[in-house]
Amino acid sequence: AVEISGLNKWFGPHHVLRDVSLGLGAGEKLVLCGPSGSGKSTLIRCINGLETFQEGALSLCGRSLDGSAAALREIRAMSGMVFQSFNLFPHLTVLENLCIGPVHGRGMARAEAVARARDLLERVRLSDQIAKYPGQLSGGQAQRVAIARTLMLEPRVLLFDEPTSALDPEMIHEVLEVMEELAIGGQSMIVVTHEMGFARRVADLVVFMDAGEIIEATDPESFFRAPRTPRAAEFVRQIS
Ligand code: ATP
Ligand code: MG
Repeated sequence: AVEISGLNKWFGPHHVLRDVSLGLGAGEKLVLCGPSGSGKSTLIRCINGLETFQEGALSLCGRSLDGSAAALREIRAMSGMVFQSFNLFPHLTVLENLCIGPVHGRGMARAEAVARARDLLERVRLSDQIAKYPGQLSGGQAQRVAIARTLMLEPRVLLFDEPTSALDPEMIHEVLEVMEELAIGGQSMIVVTHEMGFARRVADLVVFMDAGEIIEATDPESFFRAPRTPRAAEFVRQIS
């Protein structure tokens, strides 16, 4: 679903992604972790075209970023991002938050959007919140709305950037549970998270980054039990 090779990115003089290569097959789940500033957000933002990069190749489901506006549009359409801070529209109800993009951005018929929104809100167990505004929701509910909104456009790959790190502990579980259900349903995903339990249960591959580089890429059991590099070992110690 995702192929990246030799990706390099600089912010001005600052080399933030160094020769990053990775591949994610259809239906696979990748957990991306590493210290603050290691480039995790920048990397997943590159994957859905929110950031550009100077060197390397990236393709999603066989479509390569080739500098054309059409390729960028298609890659954005195939990937869906869920942010730490939900990014819901505060002046729109839950239902309208889900429908506005598909209806106004993609020309989906309103009736179809509403039907799909109801279905997705049921899947994230929020049918009873459909008429509320984001300010009336708990953090866990808001994040589940954000996940449902991203699913409206049926992304081939879901990208999560620390989806639970802004949540109170008691709400983390309800969001992880929804993510695990999606994973079980075969959704390809890349998740930036330090939730080790989630990584153990869900990830096919754990990728550890440090200073813009991929240092380890392995199965979760090996990564957490016996990290191969001192930097990864130190990181695992800190989050344990
Ligand atoms: P965190 O765990 O804190 O979210 P991260 O691994 O997601 O960290 P990034 O946000 O990708 O790290 O940042 C990687 C590096 O790029 C950091 O040194 C950061 O300061 C720098 N950086 C990120 N965004 C920009 C930007 N828009 N302009 C300049 N430098 C940036
Ligand atoms: Mg980040």
